[in-house]
Amino acid sequence: MYRIAALHMKVFSSPFSARGEESVYYTAVPWKIRLSPNPFYDRDIVSIKDFSKDDLEFIFDTTDKVSSLKPSERGELGKGRALGYIFYEPSTRTRMSFEAAMASLGGSSIGISDLKSSSVEKGESLADTIRIIDLYSDVIVLRHPLDGSSRFAAELSQNPIINAGSGSEEHPTQALLDLYTILKVKKKIDGLSIAIVGDLKYGRTVYSLLYGLTNYDVDVHLVSPPSLQIRKESIYEVQGKLNIKEHSELEDGVLTDADVIYVTRIQRERFPDLQEYEKVRGTYTIDENTLAKAKPDVAVMHPLPRVDEISQAVDHTKNATYFKQASYGKELRAALLALMLNENLPE
Ligand code: ASP
Repeated sequence: MYRIAALHMKVFSSPFSARGEESVYYTAVPWKIRLSPNPFYDRDIVSIKDFSKDDLEFIFDTTDKVSSLKPSERGELGKGRALGYIFYEPSTRTRMSFEAAMASLGGSSIGISDLKSSSVEKGESLADTIRIIDLYSDVIVLRHPLDGSSRFAAELSQNPIINAGSGSEEHPTQALLDLYTILKVKKKIDGLSIAIVGDLKYGRTVYSLLYGLTNYDVDVHLVSPPSLQIRKESIYEVQGKLNIKEHSELEDGVLTDADVIYVTRIQRERFPDLQEYEKVRGTYTIDENTLAKAKPDVAVMHPLPRVDEISQAVDHTKNATYFKQASYGKELRAALLALMLNENLPE
């Protein structure tokens, strides 16, 4: 079942609310429309494009609330529920943070991260695999190398799907935690200047982040080698919603302007020709010299894993935000799961 996350309203064909909730009548349409307190209950999380600014703020507020709950209260939110997952590509943070998040809600996780030990190895299709995980769990986390894989899975499954990375297309929960991290560290998103550096062609986190940023008033510097520039169709999509400048060098002008430098790994596994990868590997390295030219409070972010884009010397600076970002990942995913699994959350 495919459910759009952005819907704030639930439409009923009956004029009576089943549970007697507050309701609003719109004279233009013959249905009763109920303003839902939780638009994410039982919804798929396929693309960040399905989220409005209100949705994002609702999730960030919920993350603050769920993080501040006592472990005993938090442990009620997913009690008796199971998260099912399958990762057709490697993962460290996304899988572990979802598992840790679900455990913190009192739920359990079952899944496949080693395809060789699953029936995928015997030729089982994505469709059949999803149908089976759907039987054993209440919410499904999927990472797959193909663009469109999560949308396809969402059409098949009864339980909601969370896109944990679909090819080089999107990684919406990464963008949610990226935006939440910016908000926590900078206390705002509007008015910031954000430099996104590295592999902008194949990096799926870049696309979700960029689409998410269209909800805010921000300046964006896109810094990549010419062969790894952002895909044109996405530039058209965000045009007019973001003030974007493209660069091939991490110029001084970018460094002095940026409040956030979001660094990405060159996605070696997505190159059709590894010789092309060799030409661009190691193009940018953020080190102490880079920081010396940047704003003193610049936040250096990275979805991780890093290869050689950020020198380890940066880890010990106050600018290093990437490990904090990974830790917010667990909190944000816990809040998202709590919203997807519970129609109403405690106030
Ligand atoms: N972990 C992120 C992803 O799965 C970033 C990366 O792999 O470079 O897209």
